Amino acid sequence: MKTLKIAIQKSGRLNEKSVEILKNCGLSFENYKSSLISTVTNFPLEILFLRDDDIPEYVQDGIADLGIVGENVIVETGAQVTYLQKLGFGKCTLKIAIPNESQITEVAQLAGKAIATSYPLILEKYLKENNVEAEVRTISGSVEIGPGLGLSDAICDIVSTGGTLKSNGLKPFSEVMKSEAVLIGKEGSDLLPEVQELLQRIRSVLRAKETKYVVLNVAKSNLKNVVDLLPGVKSPTVVPLFDDEWVAVHSVIAEHDFWEKINALKAAGAEGIVVMPIEKIIS
Ligand code: ATP
Ligand code: ZN
Repeated sequence: MKTLKIAIQKSGRLNEKSVEILKNCGLSFENYKSSLISTVTNFPLEILFLRDDDIPEYVQDGIADLGIVGENVIVETGAQVTYLQKLGFGKCTLKIAIPNESQITEVAQLAGKAIATSYPLILEKYLKENNVEAEVRTISGSVEIGPGLGLSDAICDIVSTGGTLKSNGLKPFSEVMKSEAVLIGKEGSDLLPEVQELLQRIRSVLRAKETKYVVLNVAKSNLKNVVDLLPGVKSPTVVPLFDDEWVAVHSVIAEHDFWEKINALKAAGAEGIVVMPIEKIIS
């Protein structure tokens, strides 16, 4: 088997979740903070720990076969890579923000203005799509102080809670791009059997995260009503109880409407509801 290399962020916002998803795939490796490379002992894989900005190009050039990195960084580097799987963490939004007192209300009004950003390529693409000619000023960090220093009229940066904007007298104005962490591969790498295997494991971990395992008791007279609420992977399992008027039902339910479903089950006669996390769902 070919030994694959996967590049993940060495430290920062994506490191912990990247390590976690690989460990949840059953991969055993040491996560030494000091080392640049770690060998997985039970899968033909080496993990490279890098700065996130370098990951797309390393994957494009084949130094790593795979990588985990934010979409914002992939687009900004312009690297030619294949998107294999969105990973559901590292979610953020790139926004244009303007000073609180600014009179700007439409994107067109940014024409002729200076916008400070660490994402010049993404911003230029956005301005072009909106037919706006503005001056893009590239700064590597602390972009939000630009307007206060008289360096720019607006900024384009990652906004999560908006707290940093607020403390710098800025307000969000328009959304440029949404981003989350994705698994990327060198073009054509998705055809390798080792990549297919890893991808299948990652998808089973992601699927399991979206669902919970439930076990509940219900009187046989209410069974139909309860089962109608539960899909299961195929259909729910119904097990007899010692009291033959009652049964236990085992099923899976989705995380996104968890409480609505639990309340509906209770109303339909479910009792003693036990909910458990699922580690993997393999299909
Ligand atoms: P490195 O040292 O690897 O270059 P960095 O300082 O560039 O790290 P981090 O701040 O760790 O990067 O962010 C990594 C990625 O996390 C971002 O590129 C983005 O995709 C994502 N992210 C999620 N939420 C946020 C946020 N609130 N602010 C910044 N990035 C975020
Ligand atoms: Zn970075």
